Amino acid sequence: MNDDCLFCRIIAGQVPAERVYEDGDALAFLDIMQAARGHTLVVPRVHAASLPELPDAAATGLFRAVKAVMGKIDRALLPLAFNVGWNHGLAAGQHVFHLHVHVLPRFTPGGMGVQALGISEGGGVDREQLARLGTAIRGA
Ligand code: AMP
Ligand code: ZN
Repeated sequence: MNDDCLFCRIIAGQVPAERVYEDGDALAFLDIMQAARGHTLVVPRVHAASLPELPDAAATGLFRAVKAVMGKIDRALLPLAFNVGWNHGLAAGQHVFHLHVHVLPRFTPGGMGVQALGISEGGGVDREQLARLGTAIRGA
């Protein structure tokens, strides 16, 4: 527990939240700014600002909780689909530095995927650049 962390304080029950799922590894609650109806945050109980800080065992539990939450939203709200992911780091739009997975139900067809977020990063590459990227990432 990190006393300065909003989500640790929600986990501890010190800050109210609309809790929708919890197990030994994770808690899920409705995002206070509903970007979509049923927008839910899934957080590991252990404090970790980012994925590298999260113990592997907790990562398994977090993903299991994401799956459970998606099932609950699916049954409760009947969305057509989901976008699921997280903002990892300040430049990516992370504001609360306790790792959290956003689960966003989608109710209308034709939604843009998370790839759309890369548009401003100049994603287009040719095959040669693709190979160089592959070499760099494999070798890191
Ligand atoms: P991020 O920008 O990925 O760090 O997302 C943080 C999310 O936490 C935002 O979508 C906020 O709306 C949400 N949030 C902030 N405070 C609370 C709170 N007290 N209860 C529920 N959600 C919150
Ligand atoms: Zn925390």
